[in-house]
Amino acid sequence: MFQKESGWKTADSALKNEIFCFCEGYKNYLDKGKTERLAVSVAKHMAEAHGFCDLESKENLKPGDKVYIINREKNIFLAVLGKEDLEKGVSLIIAHVDSPRMDLKQNPVYADSGLAMLKTHYYGGIKKYQWTAVPLSLHGVVMTKDGKKIQIDIGDGLDDPVFCITDLLPHLATDQMQKKATEIISGEALNIVVGSLPAEDAEKDAEKEALLTLLSAEYGICEEDFLSAELEAVPAFSARDLGFDRGLVAAYGQDDRVCAYTALKAILETEAPEKTAICVLTDKEEIGSMGNTGMRSAFFEYAMALLLEKSTGTYNELMLKKTFRHSQCLSADVSAGVDPTWPEVHDKLNAPYIGRGVVLTKFTGSRGKSGTSDANAEFVFRVRHCFDENQVFWQSGELGKVDMGGGGTIAQYVANLDVEVVDCGVPLLSMHAPLEVASKLDIYMAYKAYKAFYNN
Ligand code: MN
Ligand code: MN
Repeated sequence: MFQKESGWKTADSALKNEIFCFCEGYKNYLDKGKTERLAVSVAKHMAEAHGFCDLESKENLKPGDKVYIINREKNIFLAVLGKEDLEKGVSLIIAHVDSPRMDLKQNPVYADSGLAMLKTHYYGGIKKYQWTAVPLSLHGVVMTKDGKKIQIDIGDGLDDPVFCITDLLPHLATDQMQKKATEIISGEALNIVVGSLPAEDAEKDAEKEALLTLLSAEYGICEEDFLSAELEAVPAFSARDLGFDRGLVAAYGQDDRVCAYTALKAILETEAPEKTAICVLTDKEEIGSMGNTGMRSAFFEYAMALLLEKSTGTYNELMLKKTFRHSQCLSADVSAGVDPTWPEVHDKLNAPYIGRGVVLTKFTGSRGKSGTSDANAEFVFRVRHCFDENQVFWQSGELGKVDMGGGGTIAQYVANLDVEVVDCGVPLLSMHAPLEVASKLDIYMAYKAYKAFYNN
């Protein structure tokens, strides 16, 4: 009989202690890396502290070298050079650091009814109604008219003000409550309250004028500068332990920074492996991996080509193709754990459960496996064997019942390059909500799984 149960049952006190310690670092990473740019910046600092240096500044590479390359501040590609030639294949783990959120529009500022407001365009697949009446912080960059780059981070400091999208009071929501959940809050209703004090002498739009004066004094930006800005509103709360026993983490952005952090920790602790170990923290996964910072861009191939050229002194397309053809990849992304309140969306025999370890997902997709890279049995065997040999608590799991919906990951894009790929990540509850939930045991087991994958 093949039976799975909670990993906590078999974890001894030493392991439990390790799990809890590991997750302190994880929560800290979540708090510092609330956007893709911030998550990449923190990753860069962690890598440098572990002896990684900029790949583009290196003349040549030898086994044991640790390098990184950053793409437009939104992706980081890290490698630890192995003893074997790259053409014999590399071990890849790819996670994403973008999460669902509210992006400011390019003309966001207006005043109405005594309030200064910012208009947003949401990013990623969200239930819009979940994003009202929660405290928000703002992070991002503004390029000013004279070419200065202004970094803005406000709302997460203890003494910072926060922002929020308001919702209608139940007393007056008779019409609203008749609507479908997708229409309760429309996209154009996701407007953020950011001020209320009027400018003294202004005749109209006094709150807008006061806001712009304040922004000019504080940050040196004017209204036009929003045209060349990327500002993201994200939940303002920090990562917290969840439960009397503190066994879970409740936080924003765990999809997919839980896999990003665990993969990052795994590569930072990898020394001179047989096969070159590579970790990519990518962007734009939540909107289809498009654009020059998404996994469908040529950046990944560029970074691989640089590795080849700098470690062999030569480069041609066939070398790159051989490298991909012999490589193996864990597409490190979260999956949907069984929620006791909503069990009907899962096939209980094939669903991942919270606390049973990292999830291996052979295929994703929807409507008959559409839009998935279905991992090959031979490769799933190798990963399964590797996890079993290294005491990784893991489970197999698929994303919900066959006809219930579905989703995809970056696995298909990597598979298209002729790489063996399988999805492997942490099960979450409330995925894509402002507050997502994960088990500390599963988080730690993702880290252990990724480390085992790099080193075996
Ligand atoms: Mn994801
Ligand atoms: Mn997602």
